[in-house]
Amino acid sequence: MIAEILCVGTELLMGQVLNTNAQFLSRRLSAMGISQYHQTVVGDNDQRLEEAYRLALSRADVVITSGGLGPTVDDVTKRVAARVAGKELVLHPEAEAMVRERFRQYHREMTPNNLSQAMFTEDSIILLNHHGTAPGAIVPMGGGKEVIHLPGPPFELEPMWLEQAEPYLQRRSGRALVSRYVRVFGMGEAEVDQRLNDLEMGGNPSLSPYCSLGEVQLRATACADTPEEALRMLEPLIARVKERLGDVVYAVEDTEQGSLARCAVEALSRRGWTAAAAESLTGGMIASALVDVPGASRVLKGAMVTYQEEAKTLLAGVPEEMIRDHGVVSEPVARAMAEGARARLDTDIAVSATGLAGPDGGTEETPVGTVFIGVATREKTRVIPLRLAGSRMRIRTLAMKHALHALWEEATREDNHE
Ligand code: ATP
Repeated sequence: MIAEILCVGTELLMGQVLNTNAQFLSRRLSAMGISQYHQTVVGDNDQRLEEAYRLALSRADVVITSGGLGPTVDDVTKRVAARVAGKELVLHPEAEAMVRERFRQYHREMTPNNLSQAMFTEDSIILLNHHGTAPGAIVPMGGGKEVIHLPGPPFELEPMWLEQAEPYLQRRSGRALVSRYVRVFGMGEAEVDQRLNDLEMGGNPSLSPYCSLGEVQLRATACADTPEEALRMLEPLIARVKERLGDVVYAVEDTEQGSLARCAVEALSRRGWTAAAAESLTGGMIASALVDVPGASRVLKGAMVTYQEEAKTLLAGVPEEMIRDHGVVSEPVARAMAEGARARLDTDIAVSATGLAGPDGGTEETPVGTVFIGVATREKTRVIPLRLAGSRMRIRTLAMKHALHALWEEATREDNHE
């Protein structure tokens, strides 16, 4: 099956909106093993959109549109697709009920043109929108080809795709596609690639890496007649990946949505541990990342932002003379911050971060990017010295990720002892 994404909206052409829908859909399609050879962005213009539809339908089996489903005249996506299919738009009762319900829920007055959102060609399959007023649809275009209309706002498009359109395409392809995600922290993309490059060939199962700051994620995908069989095909591949990468693999998950923070919260929660943080250069980022995870309240007792030296002493109890003797960006201060936060909040574990995010203030002895992460448990404290590089934001984000990883590592290290 070949798919093509067609994003509609002048705001995309003007650079007012970043085309994240294309990225989202591309990732999902490639995870499903569906090929894409072209992508198009077109403004809200009848004639140019018609040309784009005709060209896309000449090349692909499924054309996926994003945007332009609203009730205004410049919302052309459905109207032009119907014209290309040679069909009329008619009111779909199921879509009408959904639109009316959504207006009732939002306490908004419905105008007659709002009902145009419920109009699709007669043979369309309606995709309900649980997060907005515009339904989507799967529209037969003749010759076995289809257009899938999705709304523009990502928080509407993504659930509609995941809950309705993707399962439809999977049923249509008649094959089960299963992906597992291997998460790596502490090894650069180039080295991961070098260790795995003979496994990364396309094929079935396939392995594809993509990286975000400080992390590499490997997606292993298998296609088979049943999900069980696909899962069985993935097992030896994942075992080989783990064998080659060793302990930099911190999670193997079924979802793309995982994160270091979630793994840390889950590991702490399994241990029944409470956690605290004392943050300097990260300024609350560690606590914020943990709080992003539902269920964080079970583990995160509290955190302190100890930015100036005085705050490190007042809040975390770091001795003034220690700061004077060793400097504020130092191993002893990171240790004292973690121990102080742990003791004052009476938690099982605490993490700390002190460092120089730059761009100014570096010296030969302590250059920009020098960071110390402290991890204190009831038994012991260790400090991880880091030399990070890049912008202020990059250094702060990497420091935060190292701290989250340290929490995860400490919580699972105890797991291994038992
Ligand atoms: P609705 O009627 O629910 O607004 P719509 O399908 O008419 O849906 P548009 O009016 O085309 O959607 O776009 C609404 C908003 O969605 C845009 O202003 C933009 O913020 C966002 N959006 C549209 N297309 C994209 C895209 N490709 N990537 C990311 N965001 C997008």
